[in-house]
Amino acid sequence: MSDIFSAALVHEVCPICCKAMNEQIIMNTIGNKKNAKAIDEANGKAIGYSKNACEECCKHKDDGVYVIAIDPTRSGDDGIYRTGQIACVNKNFQLFKDKSDYILKTDNGVSFMFMEEEAGKLIGIFK
Ligand SMILES: [Zn+2]
Repeated sequence: MSDIFSAALVHEVCPICCKAMNEQIIMNTIGNKKNAKAIDEANGKAIGYSKNACEECCKHKDDGVYVIAIDPTRSGDDGIYRTGQIACVNKNFQLFKDKSDYILKTDNGVSFMFMEEEAGKLIGIFK
């Protein structure tokens, strides 16, 4: 390829489990070295959260709510630091009825919410 155009393979991540999905090729449309370099640097990287949950997370679309553990004292790029714990909890759990405003939904209909890890430990969702 010329040095003023470049292409890169990038992906989005599942908003729930952060697994790579939606791989796509991006290219710079305005040819110059700076743009080509930016594309080169993006190669293999995640470009953001997908609007849809991945196939795996869709399995509990109808019966569960994914609870994602966060640590509010640390912040990430999007202001939310994920500790890595995720629990799939039956959607009939009382908390989801009390806190229904906190439940988010992916475009393909999977429910999830963020919860401070410490709070989740208290109610037995997280280890
Ligand atoms: Zn997922």
